[in-house]
Amino acid sequence: PSPPFPRRLVILGATGSIGDSALKVVAGHPERFTVTALAGGRNGRKLAALCARFRPQYAAVLDDAARTEFLDNLPGDYAPELLVGPEAFDRLAALDEADLILSAIVGAAGFAPTLAAARAGKMIGLANKESLVLGGHLIRAACRASGAVILPVDSEHNALFQGLAGHGRDEEIARLILTASGGPFRGKDRAFLETVTREQALAHPNWSMGAKISVDSATLLNKGLELIEACHLYGLPPDRVDVVVHPQSIVHSLVEYVDGSQLAHMGTPDMQVPIAHCLCFPERVTVDVPRLRLAEVGRLTFEAPDLDAFPCLRLAREAFDAGPSHPIVLNAINEIAVDAFLHERIGFTDIPAMIEAGLDRHAPVDVSTPEAVLALDREVRRETEARL
Ligand code: NAD
Ligand code: MG
Repeated sequence: PSPPFPRRLVILGATGSIGDSALKVVAGHPERFTVTALAGGRNGRKLAALCARFRPQYAAVLDDAARTEFLDNLPGDYAPELLVGPEAFDRLAALDEADLILSAIVGAAGFAPTLAAARAGKMIGLANKESLVLGGHLIRAACRASGAVILPVDSEHNALFQGLAGHGRDEEIARLILTASGGPFRGKDRAFLETVTREQALAHPNWSMGAKISVDSATLLNKGLELIEACHLYGLPPDRVDVVVHPQSIVHSLVEYVDGSQLAHMGTPDMQVPIAHCLCFPERVTVDVPRLRLAEVGRLTFEAPDLDAFPCLRLAREAFDAGPSHPIVLNAINEIAVDAFLHERIGFTDIPAMIEAGLDRHAPVDVSTPEAVLALDREVRRETEARL
């Protein structure tokens, strides 16, 4: 059973791109939500502005510098209960006074809070795909034990969720088809990719997103992470999840049934749409985005991904096949490599090269506990930093 309205909402990663879109949805439907907690990372000033507007009972930041910035920017007539440090996010994710947790921290830092929400039996709007890449097996088990439910915010997985409605039986589903925009470098060859800059990689043609996921979209690793995410969410093996490049980002993904029917989900590419679907599920509410007018779009095109120029998609598939510790390695190396690329310490094509070399070196280890997952993540980060 879904929680009643108004829903008591916790937003982890409130100061990010998904946080912005979520708070637009909330502002459009104030009668449906009580904002119980807002958590940011290091941007204390922005979090203070959001808290001044939405007045949550709780706020959280990552460190003391952000805490100071937060307190310096808060209006005098309001003092939320402020939590500081990584454990703060786990606590808010499991808060008794909350019904619905939006997990929108970027990267592996989202894993522990998502698991905490799953253990606490919450309704979880999941944007943080990395948490399933790190420990999908643990999060799924926690959901089964507690009754927690994951609603996928990621636009492709939200599209699949809608395409699967009423037909969840495994024997009916032939395959899932994830659409990919192809990113800013679609159609380019390896020689071109050697030369691309940070600014070019951040200029996504259709979606406005945080820096890390924008680079992931440019390398196509984002689609690789999403492939793993889809396998965990829908319990299918990777050979039943395909990827097709669709540059217009109008079709958000498709479900193919055994009778040959393919159900596509279409809409304007704006994250407010899947976020509103999750936050108000199973009800639908108005969302203030331009309506899709197919006659104005004119043409929808589709092509196969170029796995030679963009090896990350293949690497993610191989990592998932290799066992539960390989995706953790893939993700950790990627996070360090993307950060190094954003700081202009390495080139764009070094990202897949570093991931491939790291996966080749990795011998499977047991990751059946959250502690083991986090220990491997830390170890691979340390090792990757050292190699840079
Ligand atoms: P972003 O960089 O814009 O925002 C990230 C948020 O996480 C910020 O609030 C930041 O302060 C916080 N944060 C960063 N490091 C943290 C840490 N160590 N501990 C706690 N908080 C921390 O990122 P985004 O684009 O909003 O993406 C968030 C997540 O949603 C990612 O997992 C991404 O893959 C996923 N996602 C994003 C989009 C999109 O359109 N932006 C679409 C689908 C999925
Ligand atoms: Mg996506």
